[in-house]
Amino acid sequence: MAKYSIDLQAGKVKEDEAVSSVGETIVGIDLGTTNSLVAHVVEGKAVAVAGPDGKSVLVPSIVHFNSDGTTVVGDAARGYLETQPERTIYSVKRLLGKSFRDLTDVKDRFGYRIIDEDEDRLVKVAVHSEDGRERYYSPIELSAEILKTLKARIEQELGTAVSRAVITVPAYFNDAQRQATRDAGKLAGLDVLRIVNEPTASSLAYGIGLTDEDEGRTIAVYDLGGGTFDVSLLRIEQGIFEVLSTNGDTFLGGDDFDQAIVDHWRTGYDLELDTPELRGGIRLLAERAKKALSTDQQFTGDFDGKVLNLTRGEFENRVRPLVKRTLASCDRALKDAGLGKEDIDHVIMVGGSTRVPLIKQQVSDFFGKQVNDSLDPDQVVALGAAIQADVLAGNQQDVLLLDITPLSLGIETVGGLMDPIIPRNSKVPTKVGRKYTTSVDGQVKLKVAVYQGERDMVADNRKLGEFTLENIPPMPAGIPQIEIHFYLDADGILRVKATEHRSGTEQSVTIKSQYGISDEEMALMLMDSLQNAETDMAARALAEARTEAKNVLLSARKFIRQNESWLTSGQVHEIERFVDALAKSVEGDDKDEINHRLEELNTFTTPLAHEALDRNVAAAMKGKGVEE
Ligand code: ADP
Ligand code: MG
Repeated sequence: MAKYSIDLQAGKVKEDEAVSSVGETIVGIDLGTTNSLVAHVVEGKAVAVAGPDGKSVLVPSIVHFNSDGTTVVGDAARGYLETQPERTIYSVKRLLGKSFRDLTDVKDRFGYRIIDEDEDRLVKVAVHSEDGRERYYSPIELSAEILKTLKARIEQELGTAVSRAVITVPAYFNDAQRQATRDAGKLAGLDVLRIVNEPTASSLAYGIGLTDEDEGRTIAVYDLGGGTFDVSLLRIEQGIFEVLSTNGDTFLGGDDFDQAIVDHWRTGYDLELDTPELRGGIRLLAERAKKALSTDQQFTGDFDGKVLNLTRGEFENRVRPLVKRTLASCDRALKDAGLGKEDIDHVIMVGGSTRVPLIKQQVSDFFGKQVNDSLDPDQVVALGAAIQADVLAGNQQDVLLLDITPLSLGIETVGGLMDPIIPRNSKVPTKVGRKYTTSVDGQVKLKVAVYQGERDMVADNRKLGEFTLENIPPMPAGIPQIEIHFYLDADGILRVKATEHRSGTEQSVTIKSQYGISDEEMALMLMDSLQNAETDMAARALAEARTEAKNVLLSARKFIRQNESWLTSGQVHEIERFVDALAKSVEGDDKDEINHRLEELNTFTTPLAHEALDRNVAAAMKGKGVEE
């Protein structure tokens, strides 16, 4: 039983690179629906970075287009929300990775226009410029504007260029949304080393999951932002984060609290809100009142010549039904994960809106335990992202954090096809086995070539290594039982084992794949697989037709040999004619031609095969003298 390991050259190079560029900070970014921010680790501690004015670490996720097409991002863009809504894009995160069809129900909620020219393609936002022309921006481009602002901010802080980042996304984001986030990073000049789930980052910020002495923890992350509510239940074991369930409400957040205050005042003081400026002004004042009431019992403000009051009690009565809805989501998340409240070890509060004292109290009553709220809830996600970035930079040696495998791992099968064994985005560690057999009579060797990637043909994927299972006892094709096992551990180390069960022959190889590929290469490969889906399908169809043809050719020739005794020479001649035509078609690359020749041969041989079967059965009965 030989066992050897392949030390991948590419893997080594990449690791050396990582070492040589130590010193360049990898930053953590929370790209939020309402606010975005960037953080980094300084002397072992994660800190969020404020702008040059030193005021706030939060950059409102708003992009405004000036009439000349230039952009302003963040606080500077905020004022245009009410005055030039059609050129001021907010909540772009809601559009990332979505098609117009995905947004059918919500498209009218935005102050700007989403174009519908193709329902199934990714959406774009239409922006009118002053020359009367319309320009179209993808959510990826818009998000990139926000990321560029954050990149400039951290570069200013550090006085050096920054090119690598970890960006967070909600746990429920699908592949398209994650890919779009990655692409936005790339467009902003950032190599996105990892996309991390927001609840995972939040747990890291609180130091949960950073030590592997933890025998396992179940965490609830309650995240109430400006416009969205998410609750995620996580299981953390040995540094591996598993999302057990997610729930929430994509249109419930602090904005609704502001609106509740506006409604309260409008009726109470009989306010006329008939201009965009007034409507914008009252919303801003409502938000100020809400924030003040997170610490004070009473708020007083001036609006349009009137003095407006609000007590914390009045505010709480207004928002209590909204808070109840979030708790109903928590209930559903628990149910989906098959857990009770008592199974939750930690409850983490995330998002600016969790500063509201009523929320802290209700959530802590609901779970029956003190919530974790010692960190700034606006910053938790970004701080966690910075810690993850620091881990990737190699500054926190003992921690391993790998929750999913980013690319599929599989082997080459007949015809050069990729057979994915561990699909991309699988949780690690994982173990998968699959059974194969031989395709040729008397085959004594089987080459196992391991590939990584999403394309249908192995030639388009990345080869990680190969080995040969030898000493398979000679048997007819299809008889050997070969099982191939893939074991992927939490470090991203892949071990592949092949076993022939009838003889017990076994061989294995260890492949270190974690650093085998840069994220940039990965993004390219994924994009490639999308762009080439059609050609891949054609290539796959051709490869399949060829494989089938080769199998049929083998059995047709075998059929002639085995049935020579009774086949007429005319029949043999006909079969040979069809066989030759099929063999010739396999040389070409026209799958329709191959299929046509296959069909011809099959049509001719099927009745002969039936006859052969009858004759064999008759012969067997005679030989064995079966009694009647
Ligand atoms: P997102 O994750 O959607 O980007 P954030 O976590 O930044 O959002 O939360 C923004 C929301 O938090 C806004 O609605 C804001 O008004 C609210 N918020 C911020 N500070 C406070 C506070 N002190 N009290 C109540 N709500 C607050
Ligand atoms: Mg958030």
